[in-house]
Amino acid sequence: MSGRIVKIALDSPLDTEFDYRWSARADDEAEPQVGQLALVPFGHREVVGVVTAVGHATDVDASKLRDVMALRTQLPPLSPAWLALCRFAADYYQRPLGEVMLPCLPKGLRTASTVALDRALKKRAAALSSASPSSPSTAARPAKSAKSTQSAKSVKSASTVAVDASSASAAPTLNAGQQAAVDAITAAQGYAAHLLFGVTGSGKTEVYLHAAQSVIERAKASGQAAQVLILVPEINLTPQLEGSVRARFPQLQVVSLHSQLAEGERLRHWVAAHHGDAAIVLGTRLSVLAAMPALRLIIVDEEHDPSYKQQEGLRYSARDLAVWRARQLDIPVVLGSATPSIESWQHAATGRYRRLDLTQRAAANAQLPRVGLIDMEINKAPDGLSAPLLTALRARLERGEQSLLFLNRRGYAPVMHCDACGWISDCRRCTAFMVLHKPERRLRCHHCSLELRIPSSCPTCGNVDLQPLGRGTQRVEEHLQALFPQARVLRIDADSTRRKGSAQAAFDAVHRGDVDILLGTQMVAKGHDFQRLTLVGVINPDTALFSPDYRAGERLFAQLMQVAGRAGRAALAGDDAANSAANSAAASAAGSADRRAEVLVQTRYPTHPLYRALLAHDYPGFAQATLTERRSAGLPPFMFQALLRAEAKQLQVALDFLQAARDLMPCEGIVLNDPVPMTITRVAGVERAQLLIESNSRAQLQAFLKPWLTALREQKSRLRWSLEVDPVDI
Ligand code: ADP
Ligand code: ZN
Ligand code: ZN
Repeated sequence: MSGRIVKIALDSPLDTEFDYRWSARADDEAEPQVGQLALVPFGHREVVGVVTAVGHATDVDASKLRDVMALRTQLPPLSPAWLALCRFAADYYQRPLGEVMLPCLPKGLRTASTVALDRALKKRAAALSSASPSSPSTAARPAKSAKSTQSAKSVKSASTVAVDASSASAAPTLNAGQQAAVDAITAAQGYAAHLLFGVTGSGKTEVYLHAAQSVIERAKASGQAAQVLILVPEINLTPQLEGSVRARFPQLQVVSLHSQLAEGERLRHWVAAHHGDAAIVLGTRLSVLAAMPALRLIIVDEEHDPSYKQQEGLRYSARDLAVWRARQLDIPVVLGSATPSIESWQHAATGRYRRLDLTQRAAANAQLPRVGLIDMEINKAPDGLSAPLLTALRARLERGEQSLLFLNRRGYAPVMHCDACGWISDCRRCTAFMVLHKPERRLRCHHCSLELRIPSSCPTCGNVDLQPLGRGTQRVEEHLQALFPQARVLRIDADSTRRKGSAQAAFDAVHRGDVDILLGTQMVAKGHDFQRLTLVGVINPDTALFSPDYRAGERLFAQLMQVAGRAGRAALAGDDAANSAANSAAASAAGSADRRAEVLVQTRYPTHPLYRALLAHDYPGFAQATLTERRSAGLPPFMFQALLRAEAKQLQVALDFLQAARDLMPCEGIVLNDPVPMTITRVAGVERAQLLIESNSRAQLQAFLKPWLTALREQKSRLRWSLEVDPVDI
């Protein structure tokens, strides 16, 4: 009798792999293989797990051993390299292996039913046979995967993009800097990490595309398959990039992987990546764990972006995993940014990463915008928009150019207030204010999502004249519409883009030129290549200067450089237009006979070093100063951290738990700080506290965490706690 014991990783908080028995039901049934998906009974449920070992021995009592119900033999096993990647992530981020492996797989693979999987495989087979030599239409393959509405939409938007950026489908001749970067990346034999430090608009995308092409062609020349993984920080950035990639490589299968794909489509894309059919996989952070058997190059665009860090469950950094994966596979990795993370900058300084610089904008005549500071101590602006900013806006409207206003605060006003008694719109469940949302006629808590109707009078004293305090995007939008009734104002933030597809429609409208003034939160600040934008106004960025979070400055600087980088990405249409505009009354009133695009930052601290560096587009100077500060303050990247968080109904219970955890075992070379309440202590009625663990050795920190967490789990405390390695928000 052929019987086997298989170890299976399951999506369970128990930090172990589970033993099952497998017996062949027919003589010709294949043996189970490591990396295969298997359906097994677990408690009263049937769940899918990943086979991590096949053998004969087990410590489990024979009477308790249960049988594997089915092996997913229709799918090739996940590769040893993929298993090793998950194992590393599980070890490093201190999570059970199954909680790493399973959640990153599409739902259709994790269900007892194989209907979705079989359908995906059938479509794949059909596409492959229609693309076989007998039918020469290879271009049919990417078209096939674009059947559903989602892809159809991206393809449509891709064509809009191609019209806007007419260079999209024909590769432009690389400039010297781009060529040098591509050469460096493709010359690399084996593992090499490159930090592509290119100013906004310097054409980093072209470097990615050329590097990808060269890697794929070289592999093909030696009869091998090659796959390239391109990570982007935001779903909203995928359509434009997907459009450029498809247009450039019509003969290759290009798939995207992100959480907004419909389930069936995500499964099909995953299957295409897993079989090696998709030459290029484009995705958000979760795609760093995509199975790609022929992966030869990894690109991380906007590598500094905080959204590469997963904030729940497995709290991983997709950028860091990308670098690990490249090293494991012995392939090159490219981290691109105009404002690299301080960590990456330091790695480049110490030679761990190789820095490749693009110092100029790529498009002919495109220049970095001029940055100006508007001193808000001098320029009072009761409605949030100062006179110089309004003048500049007016000039853009008259010239038919686009403007972007950046305010990183959604809603109408961050708080409502009663002048008579001092009442303020606190959230009763959180240490936070309820935000006024005027169009929706609601008070909303952005932390617990509690919603209330706007009170018609003060809940405490009955005063009917409640005042909004401060301003968010909705209020500025209202003000802009009143000031410029002819202008087409578009607000893009999490509220205006709740409906599926609405963000894409909004960005398409901007690209088409259907918008005069774009107003938005950080959603608009990231990598978009807006072609007609010549003015960026930044409203009220100062609060981040005084944040208790030591990374706030780095984030603010990156955000401002990025949003500033949306301006002046293309040369203006023709000198004539520009000259006549310069002669117009409005343009001279704005004092901008100079055709350079402009960034105006409203601040009360115009002499702050961060703004000084911004004026000079001086990222290296800013990074150097930040590194010096971090070194003397003993902060990352010169220190390694982990954060233990606990939640309880009473704050003291959470603090006591952390204190007990702190005293659990001796710790050499590790600093366990005092437990403290989190900055926003209460969320949805739950009190939250944290304990910061520090060490100047990553290895020492890792060596401490493992046994410590094991001991902590053994406490079987009923309170909720979690650990984050390399935390970004402290
Ligand atoms: P980044 O990602 O570095 O901010 P992009 O890759 O979006 O910049 O490129 C900015 C613009 O420059 C795009 O419109 C792109 O088409 C154009 N571009 C890139 N490389 C070249 C080149 N070699 N010649 C002309 N235009 C280029
Ligand atoms: Zn009142
Ligand atoms: Zn709340």
